[in-house]
Amino acid sequence: MNLHEYQGKEILASFGVRIQRGIVAHNAKEAVEAAKQLTAETGTGWHVIKAQVHAGGRGKGGGVKLAKNLKEVEELANQIIGMNLVTPQTSAEGKKVHQVLVTEDVYYPGDSETNEFYMSVLLNRATGKNMIMYSTEGGMDIEEVAENTPHLIFTEEIDPATGILGFQARKIAFNLGLSGNAFKEMTKFVTSLYKAYVESDSSMFEINPVLKTSDDKIMAVDAKVSIDDNALYRRKEYADMRDLREENAIEVEAREVGLNYVDLDGNVGCMVNGAGLAMATMDLIKMAGGEPANFLDVGGTADAKRVEEAFRIILKDKNVKAILINIFGGIVRCDRVAQGVVDAYRNMGDAMQVPIIVRLQGTNAELAKEIIDNSGLAVQSAVLFQEAADKVKAVLA
Ligand code: GDP
Ligand code: MN
Repeated sequence: MNLHEYQGKEILASFGVRIQRGIVAHNAKEAVEAAKQLTAETGTGWHVIKAQVHAGGRGKGGGVKLAKNLKEVEELANQIIGMNLVTPQTSAEGKKVHQVLVTEDVYYPGDSETNEFYMSVLLNRATGKNMIMYSTEGGMDIEEVAENTPHLIFTEEIDPATGILGFQARKIAFNLGLSGNAFKEMTKFVTSLYKAYVESDSSMFEINPVLKTSDDKIMAVDAKVSIDDNALYRRKEYADMRDLREENAIEVEAREVGLNYVDLDGNVGCMVNGAGLAMATMDLIKMAGGEPANFLDVGGTADAKRVEEAFRIILKDKNVKAILINIFGGIVRCDRVAQGVVDAYRNMGDAMQVPIIVRLQGTNAELAKEIIDNSGLAVQSAVLFQEAADKVKAVLA
């Protein structure tokens, strides 16, 4: 689950990570109040107005602006709240901005002593360790740095059993070219950042930029935080941070009925049991010349109710031209799944507008094929994987 910058910063701050201070505002009046409060608390005269949407590159799209007085705070908040922010990471339509973060200004114009770094914490699946990736080249596109100057990106692997060790934090501060107080501040920053990552059950932190201020403080100016979905049951306070407006509407509905669904760009809907078979099915669709419209794992119980729910979710995607059902009947018997498909199809009535290919393999597969073939519905059955692929190809032609 992805979070907004302001929510990510709240989590960081709760673990003692220094952040650029800010207050959320939903309209220009609130923004001015927020700015006044920040001035009272931090002494800042200038403020930054930052669009809160789930997308990076907001600065490039005009979603991060500096306000030099309260009048500018009001003007910029009016301008940014309600806009459709288009950034290199959004679609062409952009994302609607519902709220802004009003922050203290922590940069000093023309100051060569400030420095922007890049830092992320994530899991290295290949080694089974966490890793901190960091670079002196912060503030800009890290993808570009990786492309043009890969030697400026460092990686430190952290053994989850020991956590981050003192020498590792010092190595990071050293590689970032720091000394004196800034060096000490950075070791504290990475140590608390790593602790925050582990204890919040996050799957990814990306802090770009991490700022060294001219008075040698190290702080998070931006925060991209993803919490591991599988941990949300024990992180209620984070689960409540979910902003459904930022998420894919079909995926939200699928989650409500308990289906594992990921929306994709293609034209063939898939209904499969088991994630491995679902991935193999997507490969099969590609080999048949189609593109999967979704990933969908219906799980162990493919009865009529569940199949119908899955049909309705798949058909919300208007690009779907055919549906391939690929179920392995191990625990669940194929004939029961087949009956479920037939019943669900009948219940759907006119809502079912696309051809369906069903491949059922496993216990009672022959019986299942009979049920499909004798149903009188526009559902084609297949026994072999290849046969299913050929039938998909035929209906797409
Ligand atoms: P992103 O564009 O979505 O990654 O948003 P960021 O939070 O990283 O902000 C974009 C840029 O705004 C940063 O790289 C900074 O250069 C600039 N910025 C952020 N905070 C301040 C600030 O307090 N003062 C000034 N002058 N610039 C800031
Ligand atoms: Mn950023």
